[in-house]
Amino acid sequence: EGLAHETRQMIDKRMRLLGPAYRLFYQTPVQVVKGSGVLLWDAEGNEYLDAYNNVVSIGHAHPRVAAAVHEQMQTLCTHTRYLQPGILKYAEQLLATFGGAVGVAGHVMFTCTGSEANDLALRIALHHTGKRGIIVTEEAYHGNSHLTAGFSPSLGISSPLGTWVRQVPAPDSYRFSPEELGRKMAADVQVQIDDLQRHGDGLAAFIVDSMFSSDGVYGHPTSLLAPVAEVVRKAGGLFIADEVQSGFGRTGEKLWGFQRHGIDPDIVTMGKPMGNGFPVAAIAVRSEVVAGFGSSMRYFNTFGGNNVAIAAAQATLDVIQEEDLVRKSGRIGRLLREGIAQLASQFEIIGDVRGSGLYTGVELVSDRALKTPNAAAATAVVNGLRQRRVLISATGNHANILKIRPPLVFGEQHVDRFLTELEYVFRRLPK
Ligand code: PMP
Repeated sequence: EGLAHETRQMIDKRMRLLGPAYRLFYQTPVQVVKGSGVLLWDAEGNEYLDAYNNVVSIGHAHPRVAAAVHEQMQTLCTHTRYLQPGILKYAEQLLATFGGAVGVAGHVMFTCTGSEANDLALRIALHHTGKRGIIVTEEAYHGNSHLTAGFSPSLGISSPLGTWVRQVPAPDSYRFSPEELGRKMAADVQVQIDDLQRHGDGLAAFIVDSMFSSDGVYGHPTSLLAPVAEVVRKAGGLFIADEVQSGFGRTGEKLWGFQRHGIDPDIVTMGKPMGNGFPVAAIAVRSEVVAGFGSSMRYFNTFGGNNVAIAAAQATLDVIQEEDLVRKSGRIGRLLREGIAQLASQFEIIGDVRGSGLYTGVELVSDRALKTPNAAAATAVVNGLRQRRVLISATGNHANILKIRPPLVFGEQHVDRFLTELEYVFRRLPK
């Protein structure tokens, strides 16, 4: 291929040192050396617009997080077996954001990754219900541990699901009428609950990312999850909201994705943007649900909730709240989708523009009437934008849905630049 010699060498070295399981983005991989706000720079000093990285939600290399981490690292970094005021301040501030049962009487337990958070949530759910069945959406991703990989169908057929795991279709709001989706999903979940009961597993939990990130980014309808929660509760299962992607303001309406659906989860799991890049993740759980687990088992996580992780999380949450980033990113997200919807009048290939806040999915099709997924076009657009130094990716089981998910500090000028480059790339797509 037309890769520079140096890039080729680095790819080979990476393969040799890191092994075969890692994947790179883009036909021409990017070497990033520096970031600030929503911008990234490569080794040659070229500037990129980052429209993809949600972890650095308040912006790359945020000075407040950097200072908090630096200062704490110079003072103390130890674990949760000592009394520490910082973790309590943060837990209190975090719990106050949930409302519902978790907010009224809940606890926060800290981990280092979203996978660990989901793993812990499931262990608690299994313990609390005495059942082991888990229901997820068809292309869900919930983590890389043995347990969570076992209920992450997006890893593919070579990563087998647990025999106690059942799947339901994602709420495809492009192909089904939105009014029916809640009832449909609840009925699908009920069928799987019945099957789990027939097999003697019963239902421990339904776990869902309310933005359906790896299923294809479905932000609407928000009437979707309430009927599902009802069916899950009736079967004695727990409702686990996986907010690893949709939490901390990503949806631009509420701090938490599940709040848009007006539901009251038993456990909330979170991670990714929680420390703006510093590894910190957590679960928030209704007291009653974790009571039995906590009295019969101890929980310790060497790095989870250490002083530096808490310092990063505290600075990040403070900035999100002080700068009103939920509302601001909501407005920018709407501008972005309006702009893309306008392009749809020129480019037949755009089948659907959807999302909430700064989480946008653009479904590309080869036939608008038939809604035929067009994966080749999505690959071309993602790589075309990369050549224009704008970073996004694609998702969904056909990988035909552009996934646009920038830091929450994306501004109007960035929307303009994004739309200009997107139009440029669409115009040059092979017919
Ligand atoms: N849940 C969801 C919805 C995720 O998107 C991810 C990460 N992509 C995880 C869980 C796992 O998080 P981590 O990579 O921090 O283990």
